[in-house]
Formats: sequence, structure tokens, C-alpha cells
Amino acid sequence: MPGPDAYIFDLDGVVYHGNSVIPGAAETIERLRAAGSRVVFLTNNATRAREAIADKLEGMGIRCSAGDVISSAYATPLFIRQQYGTSSIFPIGEQGLVTELERAGHTIAGQDVDFVVVGLDREFTYDKLAAGLANLRNGARFIATNTDAMLPNEDDFLPGAGSMVAALATASGMVPEVVGKPNRPIMDVLLAEYGLKAGECTMVGDRLETDILAGKNAGMATVLVLTGASSVGYIETSGIRPDAILDSIADIE
Ligand SMILES: [Mg+2]
Repeated sequence: MPGPDAYIFDLDGVVYHGNSVIPGAAETIERLRAAGSRVVFLTNNATRAREAIADKLEGMGIRCSAGDVISSAYATPLFIRQQYGTSSIFPIGEQGLVTELERAGHTIAGQDVDFVVVGLDREFTYDKLAAGLANLRNGARFIATNTDAMLPNEDDFLPGAGSMVAALATASGMVPEVVGKPNRPIMDVLLAEYGLKAGECTMVGDRLETDILAGKNAGMATVLVLTGASSVGYIETSGIRPDAILDSIADIE
């Protein structure tokens, strides 16, 4: 059976676990490329610029350039530019997000901004939260890179961007626009970036409520792999149905 035109791979839990590559991932990706499929890596991670993610994959033996990666750090600045034009932004986030915001032509500022953009910030402080609140009360719009509750960390979990977004949402009483999976903005950025139609794409992920829901919402075929966050028991209780369930990325044919 001929493959679709593009495979969209989530990263953590699909291609790697923390710093360990999933067995067979590199071989599967090369096989799909050799068969003529476009391979794209799609992550809600907002802490690193595209090339840092590509470098990590290269270090695991997976051929990847920055242009093969769509992260929420990359998609959020493009979404803002497309919807609202180049803007002034107060970011609560890490250097990767700041780099991508500036690269897209936005200006970083502490006050009198058009947007407060919140992503994962491992140096999150009360002062940053207070500054974000002041900007929102002063008329800035509220954008979140993603609302992932937790961040996989080798054998454990750390608080994700969603915990910081929730802090500012609670303080302000405002609901952010969210760019990352399962929402449409990151999927629309991806489709536009590569000139793909959703019907040509298969979304492969390990989380029903982000990856699979994002793919379904966008009109893509979906494949859940069991190397990450979802167990078979969980799938049965969820209302989200992938088109296929595979043990691993290595089982994609
Ligand atoms: Mg994942």
C-alpha cells in the first residue's frame, strides 16, 4: 500500500524518550523518506529553537534539519504575525522562544506590549507573573504556546507550560489563545509551511488529547503509538479514537 504524502511525528514518546532514541525510529524515518514521504517533526516544546531540536535528533542518528521541525516556539511567532502583524511582546518563556519571536520580526519589551506570550519557563517567578498580569490589565492580548500540564523528563514528569499559563489565566481571569496541539494554529502553520493538505498527512503521536486530537481536528489520519504517554486501558476510557494503534514507530509500514 503506498504511504501518504507526509508523516507528522510528535517527538517525546514517539521518536525518543528523553535522551534515548526509540528503537527503529531512525530506520523507519529513512524508509518513509526513501518511499517519497515528507517527514515533519511536530512538538509543543517551546523552550528550544528549531535548530536545537534538529541537533538533538541528529545526535540520535536521525537525519533532520531545522526546516523539518515545527515547534510551538516556531509556530507562535508566525501565528501572531499572520493574524496580527509584527508586534511588541512580553514573553514568559526561555531563550528558544525569545529567539524565534525576534527572528519572526517581533519586538521584545517589558511593558506597553501588544501580547503576553507564555511558554514553559524554568525560571518562572512571581515577578514575571506580576509583569504579565500588569501587561494584560493594560490591554495586551494573552497567547499560550501550549497548555501541556506536564513535561516528560526521562523517568519522571516536570510541570509543563500549562501550569504557568494557568497561573496567569487565574490571576487575570483571561482565557489565552493557544497555539500548540491540540489546537489549530500550530497545525495551520505546519500545513502552510510545507504546502500540504491535511488529507495528505498522517499524524503519529503518543498522546490522545494532544497529538491525536490535533490530527483529527485538522482532518489528518492519526496513528497512536504505545511507546509514550498512553496505555491501552487509557485509550478505552478516552473518547478520542485514532485511526490506528501501533506498539511503536518501528511498526509503521
Ligand atoms: Mg509525546
